[in-house]
Amino acid sequence: MSSRVKIPEDGEPITAQGGVWKVPNKPIILYIEGDGIGPEITNVAIKVIDKAVERAYGSSREIKWVKVYAGEEAERVYGNRFPEETINLITKYRVVLKGPLETPIGGGWRSINVAIRMLLDAYANVRPVKYMPGLESPLKHPERVDMVIVRENTDDLYRGIEWSWDSPEAAKLRKFLREELKVELEDDTGIGIKPISKYKTQRITRFALRFAVENKRRSVTIMHKGNIMKYTEGAFREWAYEVALKEFRDYIVTEEEVNKQYGGKAPSGKILVNDRIADNMFQQIITRPESYDVILAPNLNGDYISDAAGALIGDIGVLGGANVGDSGGMFEAVHGTAPKYAGKNVANPTGIIRGGELMLRFMGWREAANLIDKAITEAINQKKVTQDLARFMGVQPLGTREFGNALMEII
Ligand code: NAD
Repeated sequence: MSSRVKIPEDGEPITAQGGVWKVPNKPIILYIEGDGIGPEITNVAIKVIDKAVERAYGSSREIKWVKVYAGEEAERVYGNRFPEETINLITKYRVVLKGPLETPIGGGWRSINVAIRMLLDAYANVRPVKYMPGLESPLKHPERVDMVIVRENTDDLYRGIEWSWDSPEAAKLRKFLREELKVELEDDTGIGIKPISKYKTQRITRFALRFAVENKRRSVTIMHKGNIMKYTEGAFREWAYEVALKEFRDYIVTEEEVNKQYGGKAPSGKILVNDRIADNMFQQIITRPESYDVILAPNLNGDYISDAAGALIGDIGVLGGANVGDSGGMFEAVHGTAPKYAGKNVANPTGIIRGGELMLRFMGWREAANLIDKAITEAINQKKVTQDLARFMGVQPLGTREFGNALMEII
């Protein structure tokens, strides 16, 4: 099939070396509109991002957007939900802004979201959670919430190494454990394996610490259940500290050092590295959210804490996230396709705009990212919001496009 995608001649790909992105002034960035409300929110997000880049850098920088197809639209155009051409372009250009995609239930579809993550070797799931005045939070002091969850994406129980209790594999393993390792398990026991490797732990730690340094964050907390799972989550803690102390010594200070040498207060300019047991972490983000900033977690803990942290600010429509590797990433809203709002110009585009803001931060285009952050806060302050927030504020809602226009006016 001939190509349906035109690559702009004056754009250049983003490249990477040793985990550091090299971003040209006119980078080619792919976008997928997505299903349901996806096209409406994605197209508004692109306009807002372009406006922020123009405002920050004049004509010296410009994103060269290239639309690629996935999901329902790809099915219509190519007869395939995730066509070869899209796969090849993602593999080549590596940075993607993505609208939500439906994962049809049944029919053997594998999730396109997971497929893109694998193409990009996106081992880090990054989800900032920051309160904005005007949101309906369940907390008394939601203004204290400003965290970034960095979740390892490729290891742990998510590798799917598990067998049903009545499978021959589980029987074999139980026999092996009994005979070779003298471990007795009941005959009706299903078995799952929790692998946590040093390599994957250390690469996500490096990622989280580099993110903290580049974005001037205050602390990185390692979340683990190492008191119970000593050789997986306990090892995660140990290996993470090893990277912090060996590779980021000049940037960090540990909690122990703070208590022993600095009278309990981290010296200014240093990132505090500490750790918390997973169950305590859930309490702490509710009772003392101001004490937590970057949270570094293995896969399963990261999954749980991301949703809990999201709930603290009260609205999933405003959260953005990313799946990032050493040489690219996919940036998106945290929410799904919200089919009941599709095509009605009512959905809140803030989630995917936040995804775009995060993309700009990974590109090192911080000035443009900051303009977007300020504009969203200011719009909500002025009670210029879409219907999901307007109903709590008792104001007339703006449509999706009109909210985008309001942001562009502020920028
Ligand atoms: P959803 O996030 O689409 O919707 C949950 C609730 O939030 C609904 O009431 C919805 O109307 C509302 N909502 C979500 N986004 C909104 C927005 N921007 N503005 C206003 N209201 C918003 O979750 P779901 O209903 O569980 O999933 C629907 C589809 O989305 C499924 O096919 C699922 O697989 C897919 N999904 C995709 C992604 C992704 O692409 N990353 C993530 C989650 C779900």
